This record gives sequence, structure tokens and C-alpha cells, in this order.
Amino acid sequence: MAEEHVDVLIVGAGLSGIGAACHLRRACPGKTFTILEARDAIGGTWDLFRYPGVRSDSDMFTLGYSFKPWTQAKAIADGDSIRDYVRETAGQYGIDREVRFGHRVVRAEWSSKHARWTVEALRADTGETVRFTCSLLFACSGYYRYDQGYTPDFEGIEDFAGQVVHPQHWPEDLDYSGKRVLVIGSGATAVTLVPSMADTAGHVTMLQRSPSYVLSLPSVDPAAERLRRLLPTKTAYAAVRWMNMFRMMLLFQLSRRKPDLVKRLLRKGLRAQLPAGYDVDTHFTPTYNPWDQRMCFVPDGDLLKAIKRGRASVVTDRIERFTERGVRLTSGTELEADVIVTATGLNLVAMGGVTLTVDGADVELPKTVAYKGMMLSGVPNFVYTLGYTNASWTLKADLVAEYVCRLLKHMDAHGYRSVTPLEPTSPAREPLIDLKSGYVRRGLDKMPKQGASAPWRLHQNYPRDVLLLRHGSVEDEGVEFARAPVGQGASVA
Ligand SMILES: Cc1cc2nc3c(=O)[nH]c(=O)nc-3n(C[C@H](O)[C@H](O)[C@H](O)COP(=O)(O)OP(=O)(O)OC[C@H]3O[C@@H](n4cnc5c(N)ncnc54)[C@H](O)[C@@H]3O)c2cc1C
Repeated sequence: MAEEHVDVLIVGAGLSGIGAACHLRRACPGKTFTILEARDAIGGTWDLFRYPGVRSDSDMFTLGYSFKPWTQAKAIADGDSIRDYVRETAGQYGIDREVRFGHRVVRAEWSSKHARWTVEALRADTGETVRFTCSLLFACSGYYRYDQGYTPDFEGIEDFAGQVVHPQHWPEDLDYSGKRVLVIGSGATAVTLVPSMADTAGHVTMLQRSPSYVLSLPSVDPAAERLRRLLPTKTAYAAVRWMNMFRMMLLFQLSRRKPDLVKRLLRKGLRAQLPAGYDVDTHFTPTYNPWDQRMCFVPDGDLLKAIKRGRASVVTDRIERFTERGVRLTSGTELEADVIVTATGLNLVAMGGVTLTVDGADVELPKTVAYKGMMLSGVPNFVYTLGYTNASWTLKADLVAEYVCRLLKHMDAHGYRSVTPLEPTSPAREPLIDLKSGYVRRGLDKMPKQGASAPWRLHQNYPRDVLLLRHGSVEDEGVEFARAPVGQGASVA
């Protein structure tokens, strides 16, 4: 079977894949590329999730691309607007024409002899396996399973007479008007769903095992609006992007250094917005420190307003089992419901579930070490995008894509055919993601590790990454470049 060859093969047409392709088109117009996308649409997360009120929880000035200003006033945007933004960007740069939909990448084999990847994809329409070859494989495949959200094994779930829905698989025709809705969870999805459903539902109860930190942010930021009025669009966008990034960094650093102060401030903010006498300690004070898990942002305090209006309430308890009418809690209470939403999370998956092999040997991801948070030790010409845990995903995705362009130019200028990250000499290894959230803990053992120091350490710090990825050298002690393919008189740099 004839194989198509491209310089760069991108896996995934979400925010990262489309961004990566735009960067290539802008900085490396001579390079050929194709995007293989398992689904039949552009947008990834922002096309998949269709639950009521789906929105970003970081601001669009940092979740937007560096090269494409977010021009709407609302900094926290709804899913449709984000999907439209990604699609518009793809159209603007002609990237939509380069996407092969319904192509799920399942396997990629690196051959050092030929200095190229052979990539196998399953076609959704015909069921056949198709092959592509590429010089560089760029995984922009997100971080979770698309086919199945995570639901714990709830005892007796089959006994429940009402409807159980997972936010990742929202039925288009779900009618919950006037109904008693129970949302299980306390993460970003739960805090989005509760106020969105509260206006239509009879009542919405958020049932959480343990609380999350919740911070109310204005959906339209007055400081950003002022800058947007004063400066030309592109300048204002860049200024607001940096401003918001620094604000998030400040919050993160303060949370890590002065957790008690941040706890006090968050508690004070909540007290002011919740009804008098509300039990903030039980329902909004986690046992962990701020930013040990992702903080939940609520635009204009919508969740707190819904609670204050009596449209929603929070119960903090454990589920003993599902019953015919709802759920029974360990405290003995039975919560009755017509619809139960299991906002219980995602199933983490690394590199889109693609099996990687290098010269015939399977790559065992947990044994690899991330290099600059974007390549893997021992895996040549392979790059992946994994966004920040404490700031907007796209800040990192843009830097990774820019780095790829620099890397390709550098390799062309020096006649290199391959670039392979090395293992750090220090044996210290740490988990790749430094969050203690359930979905992270469940999936970490299948993920690559990080090392103790740069360039194998992720700092989750944008300014530091700007220096490392945008301005730092692409040649350092952590990588090996090779000119001719190995076995054909390779000269290693
Ligand atoms: C509900 C929700 C809200 C979020 N809100 C925010 C937020 O406010 N701020 C933030 O920074 N982050 C947020 N995130 C994280 C979010 O996933 C990223 O912001 C961003 O959308 C990731 O883009 P991506 O393109 O890397 O991955 P995705 O959006 O996951 O897209 C990956 C694409 O790759 C495709 N793909 C995967 N595997 C394969 C394969 N093997 N073969 C072919 N195609 C494949 C998928 O079909 C998909 O289209 C949120 C996540 C969720 C689930």
C-alpha cells in the first residue's frame, strides 16, 4: 500500500493541533504537514463537551492563541464561542483543508535506519488501516479518553429509576425542566453545571465527597476592557495576555508560599457572597492547600448566586449506594433525584493512546522522562503538547509549537535528520503532573516521568518557559542530534 509522506504529522485537531499547524504555516511555510483527527470535527474538548453552560475556566486572553487576538469582551467564554474561535483560526490559515477526519492513530513506529516514523491510523468510515510516514510526529491529542468519561463503581447504580448522565456524553434531548437534579462532583464541571441547570431544574443539589477551592472572577474584566479601549487590538491582546498570566502566577505562587493567607482570603470572599450563616467550612473549605488541586473559578459568582437564591444547594457527604429514588449517604440521609449527573471526571490517557515503538521496541511511557515538558527520552523526532496545570493550556501549547518550528529550522540548517532526548544522569524521577486530583492520581502510573532539574523538569512557569523554549538553545546536554540515519555512518552532534 502506498504511504503518504509529510514532514510533520500532527495527531489531533483540537486547540493544540490547530495551533501547531498555524505555527508551522507561519514560521515554516516550506514544511508539509497533515493532521489526523479521530473524530469528524475540529475543536477537540470544545466540540466534545456539550453539557449545559460548558465554558472555559481560564480567561480567553491566555487560552487564546498568541497570534490570534480574542476579541470578545467575555474573558470566560462558553464552549460554542471557543469552538468557533478554533474553527475560525483553522479557516483563516487554511488548516481545515489539511485535516483527515475519522483517522484514529493507533501505532507509530520509528526507524532509525530511515529516520522516519511510520504511522498507522484506523479509518472510521471504511475500517481500513492506513499508513503515513513523517519525519516528525507531533502528538496534540489532549490528555484524556474521548470514548469514556470516568464514573466510579457506585453500588446499586442500576437500581436508580431515574436517568444517569455523564457530562462527557450529554444527551442532546435531555429535559430536566422542573426536575430534581443531583450533580455528583466538586470540580470545574460540577461548579459549571450547577448554576447553569439551576434556572430550569426544579432544584439542583451538588453532592461532593470533599470541597474544592472556589474563586469568583468577573466574566468581563474591567482592567482588560480599559486596555482594549486604549490600545490597538494586537497590542491590547498581548498586554492583557501577560497581565492575566502574571495574575494567575501570583495566585499560584502565593498559594504555594502562603497557603493560610490564601485560604483566609478565599473564605472571606465566599462568606461575602453566600447567605448569612452558611456553613462555608463544611462545603467550601478543602482539607488540602490551594492549588494542590486545580482551583475552581466561577464567573460573576454564578454558583454562589444560585445557592443564595435557593435554586441550588451543596451537600458534603459520601455515597453509600444508589437507591431506586436517588442516593443514600453514609450519614443515613437519602437524596432523591430525577436526574443524576456524574461529574466525576476524566480518564487520563497519554499520547492519544498511540503505541510508540523505536526500532522495533515498544516505548514504555512510564520509563521515559519528559524533556522540556514536550519530548521523551529515547524517542527520536517526537513532540507532544501538554498544557499547564496552573495556567491556560495554550500558553504552553504555543511555546511548544514555536519550539518545534525552531527545531526544524535548526535541523535543516545543520543537516540533522534526528533529535533524541537523553535520560537525565541523575536517577531522581517525579510524576509528570504535580496535581493531587483524582483523575491525575488514577492515571499517573501510565504517564512519563520528569527529572529533578532542567531541561527534564517542568516548572509550570510561563515566563521561565518563554526563556527556555522561545529563547533558549535547542542544543543542550539533554539532546542528541544525528546527521545521517543511524547505521549509515551517522555522525552524532
Ligand atoms: C470541560 C473542560 C474544560 C476545560 N477548560 C479549560 C480551561 O478553561 N482552560 C484550560 O487551560 N484548559 C481547560 N481544559 C483543558 C483542555 O482540554 C485544554 O484547554 C485544550 O482544549 C486542550 O486542547 P488539545 O487540542 O491539546 O486537546 P483536546 O481538546 O483534547 O483535543 C485533542 C484532539 O485529538 C484527537 N485525538 C486524540 N487521540 C487521537 C488519536 N489517537 N488519533 C487521532 N486523533 C486523536 C481528539 O479527537 C481531539 O480532537 C478543559 C478541559 C475540559 C475537559
